Amino acid sequence: MDRFDICIIGAGVIGLAVARQLSRSAACRQASIVLLEQEASLGQHCSSRNSEVVHAGLYYPEDSYKARFCLRGKTLLYDYCQQRDIAHRRSGKLIVAQSGEEDALAALQKRAGANGVDDLQWLDSIALQALEPEVRGSAALLSPSSGIIDSHELMLRLLQEAQQDGVIYAPHTRVEQIEAGAGGYQMHCRIGHDADAEQYAFKARTVINCAGLWANDIAGQLARQMTDHPAVPKLHYCRGDYFSYHGAVRLKHLVYPLPETNTRGLGIHATLDLAGQLRFGPDAHYRDDIDYGFAEDHSQQKAAQFARAIQRYLPPIKAEELQPSYAGIRPKLAGPQDPAADFMLLSEHGDAPGSVIHLLGIESPGLTASLAVAEEVERRLSL
Ligand SMILES: Cc1cc2nc3c(=O)[nH]c(=O)nc-3n(C[C@H](O)[C@H](O)[C@H](O)COP(=O)(O)OP(=O)(O)OC[C@H]3O[C@@H](n4cnc5c(N)ncnc54)[C@H](O)[C@@H]3O)c2cc1C
Repeated sequence: MDRFDICIIGAGVIGLAVARQLSRSAACRQASIVLLEQEASLGQHCSSRNSEVVHAGLYYPEDSYKARFCLRGKTLLYDYCQQRDIAHRRSGKLIVAQSGEEDALAALQKRAGANGVDDLQWLDSIALQALEPEVRGSAALLSPSSGIIDSHELMLRLLQEAQQDGVIYAPHTRVEQIEAGAGGYQMHCRIGHDADAEQYAFKARTVINCAGLWANDIAGQLARQMTDHPAVPKLHYCRGDYFSYHGAVRLKHLVYPLPETNTRGLGIHATLDLAGQLRFGPDAHYRDDIDYGFAEDHSQQKAAQFARAIQRYLPPIKAEELQPSYAGIRPKLAGPQDPAADFMLLSEHGDAPGSVIHLLGIESPGLTASLAVAEEVERRLSL
């Protein structure tokens, strides 16, 4: 049976960042590393179905993983993109309050300050209109360090660098079963499509579970076999839809309302792609399955709902100018009625370093945080 020192499950942005980080780490220099991906190509789930926003780190509780990894990740990501010419732009972002919401906006500024985000600028309605004439609000925060990034280019580059440093990348290879044994794990995989799929098993000393929407299932398999394995929380799927915009309004900044008080999402916001094209989303609704499709009749109703939400801060937007574009599903550790949850990094022995690390609930700001999460995985393995 083949043996690898380290097996990384999942080639989304987190698995790719971890693969690259470990491939160049002094502690893992001699290690054989394999990166498995169930799909034919990398980043087909969360990592390509998001807003591609580099978040500044405003929203998250002080000292949470989300706050720490977002701030550190933002700096690492901008440096990484700059050094390698990966398309990105520090477009800046406006968080817009309507009349009666100014206290909530001030509270957000305070939270951001506690997280170390000290570059926010408070704008009154006149200053807001001078900056973005189409946007309406009683006040706004300008976050100059927020931006956008080409996430696909980022992922391809991470893979390229990991492979240059010896990582073996295996697309179309799904981990179906994982068994804990003496000195490591036996990985049972299915390679290829249904009709001509082959089974392949190998041993890995260390497993890093970066399987996103499937990560809790894999962690759950081990929890059922190992008495010292920490409990694995339930994962909830929370879908968000995006609509492309086909009208005349142009923006220079990303524009967000205040975050939803139910903690599900950041509110239906306006983002720009790198070509300057506007799109809106995502909303947030819990569901039981992983389905990215749009039903025709439902889409019209949804466009009207989107238009109503957007018109609060961007009055000229009309429902007929919105077209369903794509959807993403957030891997959430918090259910619909729960308070927001942090990222969870579960090691085999509680929070201590171990030979398996599960990365659970890596929802937003996971893209921004990816390089910092990878640093943390390296740190835990090096201890
Ligand atoms: C709607 C939405 C908007 C978002 N907006 C932003 C944003 O603007 N900024 C930001 O910073 N973050 C954002 N995020 C969060 C960010 O996209 C995610 O945190 C990040 O992409 C998570 O990456 P991942 O690698 O953990 O997951 P994924 O990209 O889902 O990767 C997991 C991979 O594991 C593979 N896999 C699963 N099971 C197996 C198995 N058994 N065997 C082999 N392979 C397997 C999957 O096929 C997949 O490729 C958003 C997320 C969503 C859903």
